[in-house]
Amino acid sequence: MINPIILNMKNNKEKKIKKGVLIAFDGEIFLKSFGVKNFFKKKLVYNILNSFQKQKISFKIFNYYDRIFIEVDFFKKAMKVLKKTFGIAWYAEALFLENYNIKDLNEFIKEKYINWIKKDESFALRVKKETGEKQSKEEIIKILAKNIKRKVNLSHPDKEIFVEIRKNGCFLYFKKNKGLRGLPIGSQGKVLVLMSGGIDSPVANWLINKRGTENAWIHFHSFPLVSEKSIEKIKDLARLFLDYQSKIKIYFVPFSEIQTEIKLNIPAKYRVLFYRRAMFKISEQIAKKENYQAIITGESLGQVSSQTLQNINIIQEKIKIPILRPLISFNKEEIIKISKKIKTYEISILPQEDCCTLFVPKGQSAKADINIIKNLEKKLNLSSLIKKAIKNTKLEEF
Ligand code: ATP
Ligand code: MG
Repeated sequence: MINPIILNMKNNKEKKIKKGVLIAFDGEIFLKSFGVKNFFKKKLVYNILNSFQKQKISFKIFNYYDRIFIEVDFFKKAMKVLKKTFGIAWYAEALFLENYNIKDLNEFIKEKYINWIKKDESFALRVKKETGEKQSKEEIIKILAKNIKRKVNLSHPDKEIFVEIRKNGCFLYFKKNKGLRGLPIGSQGKVLVLMSGGIDSPVANWLINKRGTENAWIHFHSFPLVSEKSIEKIKDLARLFLDYQSKIKIYFVPFSEIQTEIKLNIPAKYRVLFYRRAMFKISEQIAKKENYQAIITGESLGQVSSQTLQNINIIQEKIKIPILRPLISFNKEEIIKISKKIKTYEISILPQEDCCTLFVPKGQSAKADINIIKNLEKKLNLSSLIKKAIKNTKLEEF
């Protein structure tokens, strides 16, 4: 693991202009205690550092109480990384005018503003100052605005100039880019996501990632009974999610023998419940062995017959590890909207003949009886097949 190098601005008095990006944390971080806040900040810095190194972007990181400033030359590349980093409220291309006081800043703005604001454009100055600064915000705005010979428009300006007065200099920037918000990946432990390659599970993966989990995936495939298409889809999805999380472990579980056993012995209307029960059992065992603290699914209440409350109860019977369902209250339209936004939709809708298309007959029971299920289960030789499936599971790392 790389240790995040966090530099604090040194107190030399040389005036210098540093080019870089300024990053604001999601406000949620500030609700935490000092120790937790620092932990979150370190995670975020570590994630950024990791991604920049992967992209071969050279940089220096400077740490502030409420900001991170990264001195960097390759803006476009850096901005692309930050756009997909969880835990950021906004980020902006910025200058750090090191050791500039308000007078110096005033001179700088006076000289440069004609490059920033066209003759017929209006502007607004947005000032933030560290508590140590004696002059009030209003006074600072007055001083700086006096030299900008353009129309002021505070509500709908053509250009905004953001200024942050700090102890050892000033930040100057023009445009805040919205970040993804959420919590830094890795701040909430590791989880195992059941990824089917359909529309829902990638969205569930993204949403739980946004809450700071580091995700591994588990995919049940029916190869060689069907083609490897679903496996390819999962791999394509992994490549897409590498923009958010630097590494993804995927467990590919061969599921065809279990499916065949269920198909031969269980009436059609209960089969999906049996498939799901087996998937959860296998997932739980792998999660325990590999230290994942929860199982994540793309289930949404009432979406299909296996996702009624009654059947959810049957599916998770005996499972002790927490099962989190980020999409439980989302309807399909809402899920599709997110999947289009995060670009998983195009991959998800590619045809695949996975366990569901091949093994799921129409007319599934929406209200199964647990006693019937338990009785039917006695007919199956599941535990040895589950053991075998786990033994033959292939782990790949992306
Ligand atoms: P999508 O296909 O992503 O989720 P769905 O609407 O098709 O969801 P179901 O087929 O009922 O939903 O599956 C519910 C959830 O079970 C999925 O969201 C996923 O988390 C998990 N799941 C289903 N099939 C598989 C599979 N082959 N491998 C791993 N997980 C699966
Ligand atoms: Mg599906």
